[in-house]
Amino acid sequence: MIVPMGDCIYEYDVIVVGAGHAGTEAALAAARAGARTALLTTNLDTVAQMSCNPAIGGVAKGQIVREIDALGGAMGRAIDATGIQFRMLNRRKGPAMHSPRAQADKKLYQQYVKLLVEQQPGLELRQEIVEELLVSSLQDAKAESGKRKAEDSTTASSLQPQASSLQIVGIRCRGGVVYRARAVILTTGTFLQAIMHTGEAQTPGGRGGEGTTQGLSRSLVDLGFRVARFKTGTPPRLNSRTIDFSQLELQPGDDDPQPFSYLTDRLGIEGVPFEQVPCWITHTNAAVHDLIRANLDRAPMYSGQIQSRGPRYCPSIEDKVVRFADKSAHQLFLEPEGRNTCEMYVNGISTSLPRDVQDAIIRLIPGLEHAQIMRYGYAVEYDYCPPDQLWPTLETKNVAGLYFAGQINGTTGYEEAAAQGLVAGANAALTLAGRQPLILSRDQAYIGVLIDDLVTSGVDEPYRMFTSRAEYRLSLRQDNADRRLTPLAGTLGLVDAARLDRLAKKEAEIAAVRRLLATHRMADGTTLATMLRRPEFGWPEAIERLGELEATSQDVARQVTYDI
Ligand code: FAD
Repeated sequence: MIVPMGDCIYEYDVIVVGAGHAGTEAALAAARAGARTALLTTNLDTVAQMSCNPAIGGVAKGQIVREIDALGGAMGRAIDATGIQFRMLNRRKGPAMHSPRAQADKKLYQQYVKLLVEQQPGLELRQEIVEELLVSSLQDAKAESGKRKAEDSTTASSLQPQASSLQIVGIRCRGGVVYRARAVILTTGTFLQAIMHTGEAQTPGGRGGEGTTQGLSRSLVDLGFRVARFKTGTPPRLNSRTIDFSQLELQPGDDDPQPFSYLTDRLGIEGVPFEQVPCWITHTNAAVHDLIRANLDRAPMYSGQIQSRGPRYCPSIEDKVVRFADKSAHQLFLEPEGRNTCEMYVNGISTSLPRDVQDAIIRLIPGLEHAQIMRYGYAVEYDYCPPDQLWPTLETKNVAGLYFAGQINGTTGYEEAAAQGLVAGANAALTLAGRQPLILSRDQAYIGVLIDDLVTSGVDEPYRMFTSRAEYRLSLRQDNADRRLTPLAGTLGLVDAARLDRLAKKEAEIAAVRRLLATHRMADGTTLATMLRRPEFGWPEAIERLGELEATSQDVARQVTYDI
């Protein structure tokens, strides 16, 4: 047994390291599934912080959020409460492409998720910096747990193919404090050995204004894990008071904003009137592109200062100018970071160019000529662990009871991280309880596609979800995530009775409406169900023929029509 004891020792079933988007969902899921869980994070004021874009959802990502919600996760409820602008993307395409997206009040979103964590029974949130993983040989760990009568014949590793001879037994924090647990989930995001770049300037840190995590990468390498490096970047933030909105194009939210959560009846915080906030559109131009080209030798991506790969589908502005040299303009979205701040996120201009170049770029953009930069853009390089080192439960093959979720697995995006967190958290708890793990298949959920891609193919660039990755995307729609996943979540103890009850009522209504459609016939004997297969015959036409259908809820009408 190689567990060095600190002065202070705490014991839990599951420990989650890092309270970002993966960590919060992991800890909530583990606690919901019945494990005594600790969520340890470097700073309680950055729980569920949005490192980059203050938005949730989007194409394929919106579908993931609906699935997280259907499995009992927090993300959907949090954005419904704290969103400031809601849009259903791809409305003009078929239903499989409809993708919800919302701008968040960034600070409020964080506080909301933190409160959900604080209120969750069986879960304790603590501020700690975790520096080392503690393991023992599997044999020693079993003997030790046997002594504590905490283990039976169905422990974590007995449900898995047995490749590891090591068992996680806990973690050590800065200051020597030890937390013991038979399952540990690492969700450290972009913080492992992280370096931020703005032009020639390099600062250790995983996110603007924050530090980096030392020690854990060493621990991982010592345990035989392969560790590699990726990079990502973020744009400058502007003070809205200094923007000339008269030159910008307005982008309002939807007239009929749709919630993400199947539990939400009304958007916003209870008791507070809900009003949407507009976003704005402007463009880069030839002068901006010329300036960038003239300064490429000072861009860390091109000067050789950054060697690692970044997200191909979320390129920096310098990357766009080089790769799409024939384009004379790129669209930029100005997105408010909240209701009570002037900070504006400039979506589309992620950059690690030096500060003076960033200032000059902004001055050349219509509407931004006098805009003040409040935070400069930067790129960050960080360690990740190639995810082919994981089982489909997200437990590592090297160390039984150790799970990885989120950006540490080489993914990018809050939604991808949260989905993995939920799965890892549920599996840590379920496996400790000797129950079947949560493994979703590719035809069941986008989350199934995500995890299958990660663990079977690994990654060679930061992985984000697209509808094209899902072979079964016609049935993996955002509208039916509850019908696909909530019953399973119910059997695993991940959702409460209220959610199951709500789904049961909806299924009953769907069945009743389908019966009506199958039995009500037109003059020529054709049923309304058959008529609905015709492109020119929709729900309004069905109501014209059978007034009774008017009472059907929008959600049920949609389900029935899409199914048919
Ligand atoms: P994070 O949200 O980063 O959370 C990690 C948490 O772990 C943090 O709370 C941190 O404090 C904590 N932690 C770290 N080490 C320790 C430790 N040793 N002990 C205790 N706690 C620890 N995604 C996109 O989709 N598009 C983008 O354009 C994009 N740009 C980005 C730009 C930047 C600069 C950054 C930093 C990220 C960007 N991302 C982007 C990625 C997105 O932020 C992440 O994918 C997402 O936040 C990952 O979630 P996570 O939970 O894995 O990690």
